[in-house]
This record gives sequence, C-alpha cells and structure tokens, in this order.
Amino acid sequence: MYDAIILGAGAAGLMCALTVGQRGRRVLLVDHADQVGKKILISGGGRCNFTNIGTDPARYLSQNPHFAKSALRRYTPRDFLDLVERHGIAWHEKTLGQLFCDGSARQIVDMLLGECAIGGVEIWLGQPATVEHADGRYRIACGNRAAEAPSLVIATGGPSIPKMGATGFAYDLARQFGLKIVEPRPALVPLTLSGEQALFKELSGVSADVIARAGKAAFREAALFTHRGLSGPAILQISSYWRHGESIAIDFLPDVRPGWLTEAKRARARTTLRKLLGEALPDRLASELAEQLALTGELHSHSDKALLAAEQRLAAWSFTPNGTEGYAKAEVTVGGISTAELSSQTMEARKVPGLYAIGEAVDVTGWLGGYNFQWAWASGWAAGQAL
Ligand SMILES: Cc1cc2nc3c(=O)[nH]c(=O)nc-3n(C[C@H](O)[C@H](O)[C@H](O)COP(=O)(O)OP(=O)(O)OC[C@H]3O[C@@H](n4cnc5c(N)ncnc54)[C@H](O)[C@@H]3O)c2cc1C
Repeated sequence: MYDAIILGAGAAGLMCALTVGQRGRRVLLVDHADQVGKKILISGGGRCNFTNIGTDPARYLSQNPHFAKSALRRYTPRDFLDLVERHGIAWHEKTLGQLFCDGSARQIVDMLLGECAIGGVEIWLGQPATVEHADGRYRIACGNRAAEAPSLVIATGGPSIPKMGATGFAYDLARQFGLKIVEPRPALVPLTLSGEQALFKELSGVSADVIARAGKAAFREAALFTHRGLSGPAILQISSYWRHGESIAIDFLPDVRPGWLTEAKRARARTTLRKLLGEALPDRLASELAEQLALTGELHSHSDKALLAAEQRLAAWSFTPNGTEGYAKAEVTVGGISTAELSSQTMEARKVPGLYAIGEAVDVTGWLGGYNFQWAWASGWAAGQAL
C-alpha cells in the first residue's frame, strides 16, 4: 500500500518521486529498465544539458501553448540549478543558455537518486507492469510483486529511441483510461532527402551556420549535410515544426544584406559567384551551390536580374524532405497525452481522479537545448506537490 505509484523512472518520474517522498508520502517508483534515468545518462553527449536559462513557454510545442505556463513558472531553471549546486555539481553554460555538467550526466542521476532516498522512495526495476483500476484504487503487478495506491502517475516518456527501452506505453495506458492522444511524431530528428535533392549527399560531413525556416519557425544554428539528408541543431529544431509534404527553407548567408550580389558586381566585377560564396561558406558547399545556380563566369557577365534571383535562392533554398530518420534517431516525440485531459496546475486527469501524466508522455515538447528536461522537472514537481 502506497500513497502514490509512479510508472517510469526517467527525468520526470524521478523528480516527481523525490518531491512526493520528501512531502512525507509513501511512494513507489517503477521502471521496466534495469536502471533509472537511462536517457539522462546519454543526454548532452554524456554531460546532460539539464536546463536552459532561456526557458519560456513559447519555446515549447503543444496543441495548447498555454498549458505549460503554470508548471514552468512554479519550478524554474533556477530551482533546478539550486538543487545541482546544493549537490556540489560543477556546471557551465555552453551556448544559447544551455547548462551542462562539467563532469558527467551520472552526477544528475546520482543527485536525483540521493534525493529520492531522502524521501524514502521505494524503487522497483527490471519488470514490466500491468495496471488495473477499481474502487478508486490503482493496482499494479510487476513480476511476482503487486502494489496499490489511490494515485498513479504516468511518467513513461515517449517512443523516441526504442533501443533504450522507450515505448508507447504511456499512450496505451492513457487510452485504457479514455484519455485522448495528440498524434505523436518523431521530433528533434534528422530529415531525409531523395531525388534531385539527394545531390547534396556529396556534401556529407559539411556544416554551415544557417537560418532554417518552416512556416513561422526559424532557427539560426549549424546545419549539417549527411549521406541521407540534413541534420545539425538548426535542422533538428526545425524538424519539430516540419510536417510531411512541406518544404523547409535554408538561408545559407544569414549575415548578408539584400542586394549584396549586385553590389559585389559593381565593386568586384571580375570575381565569380563561386569565389564569393567560398569567402562565407565551406569550400565544398560553395562549389555545389554555385554549380546548382549555374552562374559560371565573372559577375559582370550576369544580369542584375539573374544575380537577384540567385541571391533570393541562397536566402531561401528550398528542400522538401521525404521523411525523417524516425523514432530510432529522434531526441523527443511531439504529441502525446492531450493537455485538454489534464489540469495544468497538478497534471491530474480531469475525468480520472488520481491519474496523473507528466514529462514527455504529455503533449508538450521543448526546443533543443535543455528545454525538455526543464519540462520533465517542472511537470514532475507540479504533480509532486499535488499528490
Ligand atoms: C540521445 C538523447 C539526448 C537527449 N539530450 C537531452 C538534453 O541534453 N537535454 C534535454 O533537455 N533533453 C534531452 N533529451 C530529451 C530528454 O531525454 C527527454 O525529454 C526526457 O528524458 C523526458 O523525460 P521523461 O521522464 O518524460 O521520459 P524518460 O526520461 O524517457 O523516462 C521514461 C522512463 O519510463 C520507462 N518506461 C518506458 N516504458 C515503460 C513501461 N512500459 N513500463 C515501465 N517503465 C517504462 C523508461 O525505461 C524510462 O526510464 C535527449 C534525448 C535523447 C534520446
């Protein structure tokens, strides 16, 4: 008999468990994996990008953009940083507000486990759980063990990276209780190209600082050509906004002003487009773009109209991906348990008393750069205050 059972000992489940435990409740934390926090351990290249000081609800995707506001306001990056500092974990800001451990992601997992121990959290690992609900009580069976509580928290994440034990279990369980799911799709994921655009695969390994756009979303970061398509932070970011059949636009020269190419024609008539591009871009990319624009010869030999057209194409080079690298390579999942089903204050299901959902299982997905962990901490903490 427990006060709360939490399914999933990832970022959100651990935060929720330690919060509830330290409020004096009896908590059971259950995971089918043989260790807790596996995604934390591999995150941020092993150094865990544990939060972002630029956290803002506008940096999250959800069918209801207001849903995340309450939890994010009540548990902030500063709150998590206080915890990190109390544990003496050294950290640094890398870029764009992203905070990483100086040492290893293992320190974050050990910190969370230490806090769970202070809260007397019991942890069962290595067995899948089945769930039943009757008489207002949740009963779970895990191998030959069973437990029961008046509250159950779904913290089993999304299906990204199945080889690490990620599953769609949260959605199955939510459906079992009649909760709606916003169609999930892989996000923060490389995009694949085919046909003519696959010509760019010759550039595999080349990266450049670009602006990637999809609809109203725009990200200025590095893009990387791969042998299957496009990757790098700018592309991962834009992938969360991209839908099948749509195009994305890449600005290969984010720092030039409109009219730069005709101005260059007046100032340096005898230079070539290939040479100009080579001054701003990696050599192989400059050659490929110049070739595809088919403007060989010195600038004076081209009309202003042709140069303006080239300039516009370089500022919004259109790619129509034929897909993504899928859940196998996706850092997160967009979509999930509909926020319309949950209280934004407590994460409790409106029509199923005692049932909660937190973390990536919910239809709230952050940008790349520590935003997803911040949502896991904040939603776990919000539920933890209510249980
Ligand atoms: C390679 C990689 C790197 C990342 N790096 C970062 C980063 O640096 N910063 C950042 O903010 N985000 C990062 N993310 C995203 C971040 O890891 C997730 O958003 C975050 O872990 C979500 O937390 P969660 O607790 O909701 O889910 P998870 O951390 O995925 O935890 C879910 C838990 O549920 C368990 N589980 C699943 N199915 C079942 C089941 N049927 N029964 C019992 N248990 C189950 C899993 O074993 C897991 O322990 C990264 C993701 C990946 C894949």
